Amino acid sequence: MGAEVIVIGAGIAGCSAALHLAEAGLSTMVIEKGEISSEASGVNMGGLGGVGWGNSPGLQEHLTMGSLNIFKRLQNELGHDLEFRQSGSFTAIHDEAQYTYAKDRVLESQNNGFEMELLSPYEAKALEPELSLHMLGYVYSRFRGQADPLKTTRAFGQAALNAGAKIQTNTEVSSIKRNGGVWTLGTSEGDYEADVVVVAAGAWCRDLGRMVGVEIPVEPVVGQMWSTEPLPPRIFGTIGSFESSFHWSEALLVQEDSPPELTHLGNERVTRHLYGRQRRSGEIIFGGDRRDVGFDKTIEDSGIDVNKGHATEILPMLMDFPITKTWSGLMPFSMDGHPIIGKLPNNENLFVVTGLASSGFGRGPGAGMLIADAVARSESNAVLLESDPARFQSTVSYEGRTGSVA
Ligand SMILES: Cc1cc2nc3c(=O)[nH]c(=O)nc-3n(C[C@H](O)[C@H](O)[C@H](O)COP(=O)(O)OP(=O)(O)OC[C@H]3O[C@@H](n4cnc5c(N)ncnc54)[C@H](O)[C@@H]3O)c2cc1C
Repeated sequence: MGAEVIVIGAGIAGCSAALHLAEAGLSTMVIEKGEISSEASGVNMGGLGGVGWGNSPGLQEHLTMGSLNIFKRLQNELGHDLEFRQSGSFTAIHDEAQYTYAKDRVLESQNNGFEMELLSPYEAKALEPELSLHMLGYVYSRFRGQADPLKTTRAFGQAALNAGAKIQTNTEVSSIKRNGGVWTLGTSEGDYEADVVVVAAGAWCRDLGRMVGVEIPVEPVVGQMWSTEPLPPRIFGTIGSFESSFHWSEALLVQEDSPPELTHLGNERVTRHLYGRQRRSGEIIFGGDRRDVGFDKTIEDSGIDVNKGHATEILPMLMDFPITKTWSGLMPFSMDGHPIIGKLPNNENLFVVTGLASSGFGRGPGAGMLIADAVARSESNAVLLESDPARFQSTVSYEGRTGSVA
């Protein structure tokens, strides 16, 4: 049993990689321990990032804007209903310090060719009527969008199947060995062989790396969400807050050996982060907390209450609607905050795509396409220098790297 390329993990990154590998003509198989989209890719908020390609597109633009193009292609050309909409997003500014910071960020972004606007509360409320007038302003990004995570990731899986890939679910990879130029994956359902392996195992990548003696420094960071009952359409864009970005601009780490941009030190809150939207089915959903507490997905109730209070400051109508459901998932945060996409050091034909953190739904399609391209062409797009897994090897200097990483 096997294929030319085996992808481990059927989240958004793995399914996109499989789709693009199969479209490139490689025989491709995905091995997944649960179902398609059973982890972070199926439970996230569904927000898509992107503020344009800018004057000098780098990895971030290839991941955000590149993914946006793939979302459009899947829904509009391949006919999958993702509930995708390029709806725009509003990020609320709560106080003077945040306002000064937001204004500088918007000006700098505009100078670099990106599309962001600073709106007064009155201007923002004309576009998104439920927004509070009691904020100092809102940053508006028209490229940002939304899609249903479960439908989208399953659609990537279906598109990969349609392109000729195979997907083997309920099969956990427990060993990765190389014999005579071939990779053998030991799984709960027997052995599988491949010429090339792509590790797309989200928060579990560190465990898979250790099977071949490579450290993939990814931490599971738990995120939790809540929703109201279904309501008639009232919120149109995605909604966020500048509070956390302002905090992280001054204090990136909660402690020296943590991934950047967490909301908690253990279970103790350091800032409030917020993202949310209204689903097509009517529920208003919000989340934002990021706790580095291992693989424990237990909901922290007080965090849900704080998040609802934060959302209600921006959308006062939420005061009238109780929380009807909560859920959580594990995000793959790399230790330096940057994606890890490329060839794993010291191993022939072994690749990884991970570290997409809290924005992997919006960036996963592009990440999967870039890794598929690196495998199919045996040469990486130059933007992958920024995500080279070799940067974590003590012998390699991140600043000093040049040339292709594939
Ligand atoms: C609450 C929450 C809200 C979020 N909101 C957003 C948002 O609004 N916008 C956004 O862009 N991102 C958001 N994210 C982040 C986003 O969901 C993730 O970054 C993204 O889904 C990661 O995709 P992935 O394919 O790398 O990992 P995953 O979706 O976790 O997929 C990895 C897969 O690998 C499988 N696997 C692991 N180990 C093995 C093994 N040994 N053998 C076989 N299979 C294995 C797992 O079962 C899993 O299905 C959010 C995340 C959470 C939890």
